[in-house]
Amino acid sequence: MLYLWQNQVWQRFRQQYEQQCIPHAIILTGPSGLGQTALAEQMAMHVLCEKQNAELPCGQCHSCELSIAGNHPDHTVIEPEETGKAIKIEQIRDLKQKQTLTTNVSEWKTAIVMPAEAMNVNASNSLLKLLEEPQPNTLLILISAEPAMLPITILSRCQKVPIDTPNKEEVIAWIRSQGDFDEANIEKALTLADSAPLSALSLLTDDSLTILEQVSMDFTKLLQHKANPVQLAQQWQQYDLALVLRYLQLRLKDRIVKQNVRSNSQNWQIYDCIIKAIKLLSSSNNINKILLIEQFMVSVMDVPTSQNGVVNH
Ligand SMILES: [Zn+2]
Repeated sequence: MLYLWQNQVWQRFRQQYEQQCIPHAIILTGPSGLGQTALAEQMAMHVLCEKQNAELPCGQCHSCELSIAGNHPDHTVIEPEETGKAIKIEQIRDLKQKQTLTTNVSEWKTAIVMPAEAMNVNASNSLLKLLEEPQPNTLLILISAEPAMLPITILSRCQKVPIDTPNKEEVIAWIRSQGDFDEANIEKALTLADSAPLSALSLLTDDSLTILEQVSMDFTKLLQHKANPVQLAQQWQQYDLALVLRYLQLRLKDRIVKQNVRSNSQNWQIYDCIIKAIKLLSSSNNINKILLIEQFMVSVMDVPTSQNGVVNH
């Protein structure tokens, strides 16, 4: 599957393939929510397809059928065994072994590693060896929203293919084509998702926006000391905390812009608390979520109220 905003990248890739000069390794970068996985799958499906030099994979040959069914024997997908965990060396070793065997169905062997920055040090070193001695007719596609976290030795052996966020009008048009959504909600989802179309769409189709509205109201009550932080923390721990904090941050930023200087000092202090919590959350995988939320709540409740400074919902 190919999204509108990936068209240019696709055409370039297709031409490279046609001219038999695709690199052994590609890294798709750019923020998540732009459909990198779908693009990588399509690239793999294209080189595995039995029909050569077509615009798109044919979707009908035996190889394409296997790709669509998700069990092509010449294609490997490597991702963490559990979300948020590392990609281990054993997984890369299995890939290496597979790359040296003869192909089953197609003339090519393909693999996707995502997110590439999830590889631990040993896994990266093992992958590096594979990149240093590439087998003929192999295509390795790495996906990474954080390429700076990858060793330079790996990056330098991959062709960088950045996927850019389309402009806002394009994203809005695409979202409208996906369903009947409230315009104000589209705007909200776009801001929260940094205009990444797929992330924005998923915010619109699940109950995230409703939850965030509730979160925002509870947060106001908390600042007025009318809510119990312990109870609230219990509730919030079920949510996507990064999203919650980002939402509160954006709401507050909006308010700071609109309000007068006097009440801003309180808002800025609350803003700092939010930033601190965001940093803490992103600094570790094994964070105690409830504790983090409770500490965050206590810290914002401690901010002295300025005269006009009650943060209205
Ligand atoms: Zn095909």
